[in-house]
Amino acid sequence: MKKEIRNLAGDLKKLISAGSEEDFMIPAKPARADAAAAVSAEPVLQPAPPQITKPQTAAPATATEPAESYTLESIAKQILSCQRCALGATRIKAVPGEGNPKARLMFIGEGPGYEEDRQGRPFVGKAGQLLDKIIAAMGFKREEVFIANMVKCHPMIDPQDPEKRGNDRAPVPDEIALCRGYVERQINAVGPDYIVALGGVAAKSLIRDAKSLSAIRGKIYDLELSSVQLAKPVKILATYHPAALLRNPGWKKDTWADLKILLADMGRTPPSAV
Ligand code: SF4
Repeated sequence: MKKEIRNLAGDLKKLISAGSEEDFMIPAKPARADAAAAVSAEPVLQPAPPQITKPQTAAPATATEPAESYTLESIAKQILSCQRCALGATRIKAVPGEGNPKARLMFIGEGPGYEEDRQGRPFVGKAGQLLDKIIAAMGFKREEVFIANMVKCHPMIDPQDPEKRGNDRAPVPDEIALCRGYVERQINAVGPDYIVALGGVAAKSLIRDAKSLSAIRGKIYDLELSSVQLAKPVKILATYHPAALLRNPGWKKDTWADLKILLADMGRTPPSAV
């Protein structure tokens, strides 16, 4: 009996000392445009016990990790073999992200869908085609920007039916928490001046504001990462996800209004509307 109690105490000590990525969470920063209103905002990701279903193969980013210790290539290599969360078991291809490695502008969505899972590239389905139009309307070429997602593997409603269309779902907070070290390291590796968070999942997670997307979109915030130190200042603006625009074309006008705010801050004149 004494031996069992000693073993139990040892296991508990290990669990407590292991910690999690949530330990590195930094309190949410208010929007520059609406600082007073944002002071009372709750952080979007509540600490939750990690649900690691498979052995970890890639170390999470840490607050002390120097930016020079990783590159887009080394991050992608880790992602391609990652099994940190359950999505790794059901993906066809992990989708690290792609684009200009020194882009001034990054777009970050929520996660790969059916087409992305098969091609290993971000935003290549119908929503991706609309994103291409949005990028062009902003006066950029797709290859000039960097495109990534909060999670790198396909979240499915029914993982037992991977061939089913419309089986996509938003990533849950535990999946985002386990994966966010990758996107945060990608942000530092690219070093953009601006990020567009596409949709509520990316917006709430990166801006760390639990309010609805409609409340936080269209404002420019100063980004703060939660698992690594930001190598340089980055501004972030949230707007609707292209998939949401396909379902609600009436939101395109609001999206364009949001993006014009970003373009004005960038000192660019938009050549056309979406
Ligand atoms: S979603 Fe992210 S954390 Fe989960 S297995 Fe894929 S790369 Fe790893």
